[in-house]
Amino acid sequence: MFPIDFKTGFLVYLVLALAGLGAVLIADFLRERRRAWRLSEAHLCRCPVCHHNFILPRTLTSGECPHCGRTCHASRRR
Ligand SMILES: [Zn+2]
Repeated sequence: MFPIDFKTGFLVYLVLALAGLGAVLIADFLRERRRAWRLSEAHLCRCPVCHHNFILPRTLTSGECPHCGRTCHASRRR
């Protein structure tokens, strides 16, 4: 082992701690960006009969209105 004085050890500790903190912040930023919740008009469904608005899962293009049971198609408007 090689001797490390206090200033060098503290500097190494500080650099490693900041690098770890930066890695956690970058990982959290990337995770949030990947899981960002986006609501688009294509997934917002409005029942033509009772005008009840509800959200369809991303994989579906149509679904039953939870209010009246009529089949509704997601709007494609932008
Ligand atoms: Zn309805």
